[in-house]
Amino acid sequence: MRNPAFASMAASYLFADITREVELHQHPVDLGVGDTTLPLAPCVIDRLQKKAHLALRYGPEHGLFSLREALAKTLYPMLEPEEIFISDGVKTDIGRIHALFDSDIRIAFPNPTYPTYKEAALLAGKRNFSFFPCTPENQFFPDVLPQTDLLFLCSPSNPTGHTLTRDQWTTLIARAHREGFLILYDGAYSGFIRGASCRTPYELPGADEVVIELNSFSKLAGFTGLRLGWSIIPKAVRYPRSAQKVHPDWCRVLSTYTNGPSRLIQEGGLAALSQEGRAATEAQITHYITNTNKLKQGLAPYFSEIYGGDQIPYLWIRTSKQHFDDLGIITIPGVGFGSEGKGFVRLSGFSSTSHIEEALWRCSSSLALL
Ligand code: PLP
Repeated sequence: MRNPAFASMAASYLFADITREVELHQHPVDLGVGDTTLPLAPCVIDRLQKKAHLALRYGPEHGLFSLREALAKTLYPMLEPEEIFISDGVKTDIGRIHALFDSDIRIAFPNPTYPTYKEAALLAGKRNFSFFPCTPENQFFPDVLPQTDLLFLCSPSNPTGHTLTRDQWTTLIARAHREGFLILYDGAYSGFIRGASCRTPYELPGADEVVIELNSFSKLAGFTGLRLGWSIIPKAVRYPRSAQKVHPDWCRVLSTYTNGPSRLIQEGGLAALSQEGRAATEAQITHYITNTNKLKQGLAPYFSEIYGGDQIPYLWIRTSKQHFDDLGIITIPGVGFGSEGKGFVRLSGFSSTSHIEEALWRCSSSLALL
């Protein structure tokens, strides 16, 4: 029998539709899907070439211990390597995570948000959903949250660009303790965070009991085509309304579902975390943010509401997608991220500098007429 979830899902996935839209245009300027465009750091390519013989054989089921150690050392000094599990990316883990929870679990999603969260939950047979609005009217984070067992959160947010402050994190962690819910934190863009906000909530007390983090090298180091990520379930995390620990079950889930990403790609991850790799990937991040700022400044005269762009290479603009369609500029319709995204578009600053300049040129010659 067919999974009944398909009946409540769109026939195709949002970003697949956008990729098809790009193919249909004659000379598209692609500010759509948020894929990285810069080449891999030279030390990553070098390591992949030198270690090509490791492409044979299964790797350890929870990832190379050296990579789990390197992540703990560089990004999570407050965690043990055994609390970090290597995967092939956030997206797959968003799907797998549901194997942990029973079908009645209450799940809360931001609106708008990354569409995979809800679709993966639906496919996994979960039905008990609520949504909390994250709009300019509430500064992208509401005071009132729905009653829930599992709360999804992306910060910096795709698509709005909002980054939770330390105070907002502290309040949320306290609420999770008080109200007994877990936070499923998607940190796919955390590498772009600068300044006072935390790059991981585990910097804050109490987070290790209520936060599960999913993250990856995709945006951090341009690994979208290599596929390498990690999940974090600290040993102290317990199920909502239960004394049972989650960590041993996650070990069990991963052993069943995956043999982990290729050993070779994990070697690439080790290179990206080396001193040389970190310097190169920081420069890439600066490049994307500089391009996004250029786009933001260039568009500012035409739109009164432009959000994001500082801690994530996306702009969230209140306007009609048609303006950009008419100019052959590919964008993502805000409504694809949820009903609260209606009337917005998302533009990606991951695009090449030439596409960003071309987009600004096309806008300057036409949007001035708006
Ligand atoms: N989470 C968010 C919010 C994203 O925007 C993306 C990709 O664009 C992903 C996860 C997918 O990340 P990965 O490449 O690690 O699967």
